[in-house]
Amino acid sequence: MSLQSERLLTHMQRLRLTHLPQCYSSIAEEASSKNLPYLDFLERLLESESQAKYDRNVKLKTQWAHFPYLKRLDQFDFSFQPSIDEKKIRELASLRFIEQKENLVLLGPPGVGKTHLAIALGVEAILHGASVYFITMPDLIGQLIKARDENRLKEKIRLLAKPKLLILDEIGYLGLDDFGATCLFQLVSERYEHGSMILTSNKSYGDWGTIFSDNVIASAILDRLLHHSTTINIKGESYRLKDKKKAGVIAKTAIAAAT
Ligand code: ADP
Ligand code: MG
Repeated sequence: MSLQSERLLTHMQRLRLTHLPQCYSSIAEEASSKNLPYLDFLERLLESESQAKYDRNVKLKTQWAHFPYLKRLDQFDFSFQPSIDEKKIRELASLRFIEQKENLVLLGPPGVGKTHLAIALGVEAILHGASVYFITMPDLIGQLIKARDENRLKEKIRLLAKPKLLILDEIGYLGLDDFGATCLFQLVSERYEHGSMILTSNKSYGDWGTIFSDNVIASAILDRLLHHSTTINIKGESYRLKDKKKAGVIAKTAIAAAT
């Protein structure tokens, strides 16, 4: 290694430019073979480092988000779910609701794409630099009980209030006791007008009282959640059953043809 290369690597280390050490010489060779102006060369160097930083950031934020699976908006078949206004979802994907610290509630029966849409919007938020955390309601309650037993409940709720977007999936599959309802109320209050939430539920608002066993706390939670919010009501068939149904049709056709 030449003395100049050693000096360059030292500068890069000091400036915490972690990608340039691997690529600066090939960028320099290319620039000299193409006779690129100095500024173009400088731009390529900086672009390469900044792209690598961005990619690393997206990767870390995606790991931190704990999505159960990764889905994008372009993988969502809007024609299968006509009750969803595609324009509305595209508008939500502009992430203005996150800038404005508003909430989004996705309601509908199982399999209609609530979690898919929540994850896809979460991924979009990460691509735009936001921190996201995904958790299902049963897991949240499990984590809160553990935190309470370890005497760090307040700290846990404060931690959950931090990400720019908190996705709370599957509200309503399990009923909440007083502890769960109080914690959810505290969390929703901490995030109120500070950070967005996406919530999904198989229960309509009218039935939320049955989730919380206490109508007073249910309405206090709903009051804060819905003050600045959008609700998407999905009415349709389960996408999970689509292929099974198709298989049924194919089997019937095959039987009809054979007889
Ligand atoms: P829900 O959360 O409403 O129960 P999910 O979002 O988990 O449903 O959807 C179940 C599965 O079906 C997932 O793999 C999801 O990607 C897929 N899915 C649901 N709706 C659609 C759709 N309209 N287009 C493409 N995939 C879909
Ligand atoms: Mg779901």
